[in-house]
Amino acid sequence: MPGKNLSRDEAQQRASILAVDGYRVRLDVTSAPDRAADTFRSTTTVTFRCSRPGADTFLDLLAPAVRSVTLNGRALDPATAYDGARVHVDGLAAENVLTVEADCAYSRTGEGLHRFVDPVDGETYLYTHYEPADARRVFANFEQPDLKAPFTFTVTAPAAWDVWSNAPHGTVTAEDGARTWEFAPTEPISTYLTAVVAGPYHVARDHYRRELADGTALEIPLSAMCRKSLAPYFDADEILGVTKLGLDFFHEEFDYPYPFGKYDQAFVPEYNIGAMENPGCVTFKEEFVFRSKVTDAAYEARANVILHEMAHMWFGDLVTMRWWDDLWLKESFADFMGSYGLIGARTRYSSAWVTFANQRKAWAYRQDQFPTTHPITADIRDLEDAKLNFDGITYAKGASVLKQLVAYVGSEAFFEGARRYFKRHAFGNTELGDLLEVLEETSGRDLRAWAAAWLQTSGVNALTPQVTTDSEGRITELAVLQDGDVLRPHRIAVGLYDRDADGALVRTGRIELDVTGARTVVTEAAGLPRPALVLLNDDDLTYCKVRFDEESLETLRTGLGDIRDELARALTWSAVWNLTRDGLMPARDYVALVLRFAGREGNIGVLQSLHAQAKTAVDLYADPAWRGEGGRLLADGALRELREAVPGSDHQLAWARFLAQTAGGAEHLGLVRGLLAGSARIDGLEVDQDLRWSLWLALAASGQAADEELAAELAADNTASGKRHHTQCLAARPTAEAKAAAWSAVIDSDELPSALVEANTAGFSIPAQRDLTALYAAPYFKLLERVWAERTIEIAMRIVGGFFPIAQTDEQTLAEADAWLAGSPQAAPALRRLVLERRDDLARALRAQACDRA
Ligand SMILES: [Zn+2]
Repeated sequence: MPGKNLSRDEAQQRASILAVDGYRVRLDVTSAPDRAADTFRSTTTVTFRCSRPGADTFLDLLAPAVRSVTLNGRALDPATAYDGARVHVDGLAAENVLTVEADCAYSRTGEGLHRFVDPVDGETYLYTHYEPADARRVFANFEQPDLKAPFTFTVTAPAAWDVWSNAPHGTVTAEDGARTWEFAPTEPISTYLTAVVAGPYHVARDHYRRELADGTALEIPLSAMCRKSLAPYFDADEILGVTKLGLDFFHEEFDYPYPFGKYDQAFVPEYNIGAMENPGCVTFKEEFVFRSKVTDAAYEARANVILHEMAHMWFGDLVTMRWWDDLWLKESFADFMGSYGLIGARTRYSSAWVTFANQRKAWAYRQDQFPTTHPITADIRDLEDAKLNFDGITYAKGASVLKQLVAYVGSEAFFEGARRYFKRHAFGNTELGDLLEVLEETSGRDLRAWAAAWLQTSGVNALTPQVTTDSEGRITELAVLQDGDVLRPHRIAVGLYDRDADGALVRTGRIELDVTGARTVVTEAAGLPRPALVLLNDDDLTYCKVRFDEESLETLRTGLGDIRDELARALTWSAVWNLTRDGLMPARDYVALVLRFAGREGNIGVLQSLHAQAKTAVDLYADPAWRGEGGRLLADGALRELREAVPGSDHQLAWARFLAQTAGGAEHLGLVRGLLAGSARIDGLEVDQDLRWSLWLALAASGQAADEELAAELAADNTASGKRHHTQCLAARPTAEAKAAAWSAVIDSDELPSALVEANTAGFSIPAQRDLTALYAAPYFKLLERVWAERTIEIAMRIVGGFFPIAQTDEQTLAEADAWLAGSPQAAPALRRLVLERRDDLARALRAQACDRA
């Protein structure tokens, strides 16, 4: 569709002549419960000024039909004004009123106004999701972040429903089985931040009050909602408790009163992402409402997201990036604040920085080593570029670099800079320079060179210790070697670790210093006894890959689990995983470390990453000749640790899930079946609904679940979640027919919501079934461009990523990927980027296999 992919140049051009005074948006969604109704009525009236009277412009709109277009009282013919993506208007006056009346489509892909019918009770639920540019699927608008305006929404919905939007509602008028909700005008916000949530949601209400410095009180009504059928599982008290701690904390740190009145948090079905920071009306994926036992890592992740979205009320909503190049200005900050806030707000998640070091950074390292990596401040030409930039660089690397910035300038200068930034740019738009300006003021440092090294270049440095000792075992020199395409200034701590009387590895020395250039001598270390372990980037101040000297590595082989400090241990796990990914440690050695020490890992989040990484090590990075044995070792280890774990503990549940993921042999599968049937028990392990599905997946993938059994499980759990699990189990069956059916369900129809696309691709792509899926590699590459052209970008991204033949870790598949890339220079850049990244994963797997074989 020409015009759908708005470019930065077009947005700049439009912003250079327009200023928007306000929108009035009327939506009529009374048709929503009627499944035969595909559309709803949408009417936008936008009032705006034009500095070049006589000029022309366009509104963005993706709608099946436009009924009327009226500019300054003049009716335009929709047939000529609307091209399917844009409403073109010409002859602008200095002051304009433009009304567009359209029929917009209910979404099944989570883009725009999503409609979901609950299989439990038949109720219909609606919510919107727009970022970066899907408000235009719901109402006509100038879809770019720097044309902010107040929005006034009016929504007509079925009488039994409640409706929420960014602003509080005023009058609600009942008429003809419907109610019309009039919302107050919002503060000036960007189009992608507007929101509507409507349906018979279950609601929990609360209230936040705070005395402000000027003697007045700030009152914030709070609410949290989810589908009615999830209400029994909804722990709103916990959610609202974290919310209040966060509001306290961010008010202290930011010194700018929450600007959007009330604070609603909606947990919504079939959500494509974790959450979205719509001012006053945050939306979350409803998987954060836990219907089965989850580990504390899941509660921590949810609390982190609550604080991340809350930080956006200031970073992103109050002050917004001008264009998507500076997406990091909100996402890196919010990502940083998620972890920082968990500690600072005194939530019970005191290991937030461990999670950050171990999991969040793993995402950044992976992304930053793709050939498609980019500077944190990116070059975003158009909306398709923008869509792919919600990535490990913009979020996790950006947040890591902010953590390094705090170490570099000090937290007081950092937060005072933030306070000035909010006051100076409230309700406005910013770029990198605006942030540097306030930080230079508060730190007294020239940050241009720092920004050039950290924000405007890409790639990750590796830091390696080089230790020489004298005949008495004292350090004569400890140097830090830095490599990478760009060498950067790093503020780091060097940890020196030795055994204590109990045999634990504990820190005996810590030296903080600035590392610059290719080699930096740690002068303070000279003369100290050579320690058993030298840990660079101790305390995780900077963003880098940590390497070890040979002696430290030897210490880790026998004693990684003896490191007492949780963060130091997590950093070490992260470092050995990077060694494995880089083909510097054989996959089987990594697996041996996990089997040896994971059972003692106290941090549940770290343990869960070890499980995922050990599985990847066997599936992709191990010599194919060793895969079978590696898989058996993992399953045996899982069973052993499951039996030894504390009954009822999170660790026990994690090992049970890991057993389900690795079970292959008769003994393991027999236990799996016994747990499902109730004939086998593990003391303290509750086999609840989600665990049951994990166990069924193990049986299905091994060809040991009958279709009738899976159907019976679905009948017992006829929910949205049950449907997803059942779909994945069917796709995971090891037969040619099952693979063909999963492939066809995704490729030959566009009926599936993204959750079911994912369930199919995940079940289809079981690595151990690579012989069955090999014949889909060639069709995959043939289909790519068609899929990209015909499907929405959310769905297309899932298909391109999910069906990539990564399990075929062989040279032939790599050659097929290269042939596609060489032969498709004209393919959309965003599509090429996705394929390049998956291709790089494959090439990395082949390098790691070579290391494991050697
Ligand atoms: Zn965010």
